[in-house]
Amino acid sequence: MSVCIIVGASHAGAQLAFSLRREGWSGAIVLIGDEPGLPYQRPPLSKAALQAVQPGEPALIYSAGAYEKAAITCLPGTRVIALDRQRKRVLLADGRALQYDKLALCTGASARSLALPGRALAGVHDLRTAADARAIGAAVRPGGRAVILGGGYIGLETAAALRGRGMQVTLLERGERLLERVAAPATAAYFERLHAAHGVAIRKNVQARALLGTAGRVTQLQCSDGQLLAADLVVLGVGVAPNMALAQQAGLATGDGILVDEFARTSDPDIVAAGDCAFHPNALLGFSLRLESVPNAVEQAASAAASVCGLRRAYCAMPWFWSDQYDCRLQIAGLQRGHERVLVQADGPAEALVVWYIKDERILAADCINSPRQFMRAKKLVASRAPVAQLVAGAAAAA
Ligand code: NAP
Repeated sequence: MSVCIIVGASHAGAQLAFSLRREGWSGAIVLIGDEPGLPYQRPPLSKAALQAVQPGEPALIYSAGAYEKAAITCLPGTRVIALDRQRKRVLLADGRALQYDKLALCTGASARSLALPGRALAGVHDLRTAADARAIGAAVRPGGRAVILGGGYIGLETAAALRGRGMQVTLLERGERLLERVAAPATAAYFERLHAAHGVAIRKNVQARALLGTAGRVTQLQCSDGQLLAADLVVLGVGVAPNMALAQQAGLATGDGILVDEFARTSDPDIVAAGDCAFHPNALLGFSLRLESVPNAVEQAASAAASVCGLRRAYCAMPWFWSDQYDCRLQIAGLQRGHERVLVQADGPAEALVVWYIKDERILAADCINSPRQFMRAKKLVASRAPVAQLVAGAAAAA
């Protein structure tokens, strides 16, 4: 019987396993992950999982029964340490070697490590796994002082959750503004106002120089300008890096991720890759990229599963994202990279806003804040690269 091994019990990994069955793969499927338990949803980790006083188990992507029914063998708590492409084997940390016919790499991304003095002190956390979220949640004390590094989605969603649980929150961003990598100044300014209104102290153009502690536990953070901030809890939300060491050691082509084509095929015909770790071409966008999002993991995994089964289903989707902070929902259609200007439209109530990104007088992307109706419209306009003239009513400002 043929064997497909999936390395990485990520969203992409779980999806790929079930997509294989849907595509007709009749061989064995083995899903290997180094975390304990079955694959779970990561988006709630910086939202509901932190808000809950008594967090439950992480929400599974598929139930244990579903894996059983689909005859998918899960090996949680199992680390792959090397790939032996010549003998088509994966080598495990416990000394075993597993044979494959087809291999899928869904190794995801890891929190960027910060070489910060005091990084190992208790009370200092990354936020990438369910264990991280549990540890942060357990450290929350109403009235306690939290310092968050990074003004991206992780930092902002964590700030909202910790404020909701009564902590005093300071957020440090080393750039000139929030969400610099992913959104326009108008969107960033909206979220800066939102967090300020909820009592988060935001400091930009500041980095951490060191973490200081007593008896092995963090008590202060020293900023790059010398200022000392009291801290009972420090959360690092400073970005992620793709997990591609296995691919690199095995000699697969890599760049900013594992290089794949539109069918999720790597430079080895028997190996596919999908999800946060895969650097792939997107014909709609006209360039190659790596995407860190659930929709990307799901759709690219489906394409990878088809390739494993000898079918050809190109992955070519318009990216979309979302973020929940307090009672505010941001939905993003498309990618704003390369935009020439933005058009900002209020949408009904004062707290609803749409930021349209424009290139060559066509709609490239949109940030829709508290506006699900405009998001549905934006998805269509972005997908068809509609002319900006279609955005008629309500143009409040152009920048
Ligand atoms: P991110 O979007 O890259 O944001 C990290 C921010 O921290 C960047 O602005 C970064 O600046 C800044 N930074 C880096 N080092 C710093 C330092 N030493 N001090 C202060 N600021 C520093 O990454 P993230 O927010 O950590 O998110 C991680 C991943 O999870 C991403 O893939 C993200 O898309 C995903 N995620 C998504 C959602 C969602 O879609 N709702 C929610 C949570 C997480 P530079 O750009 O200069 O490095």
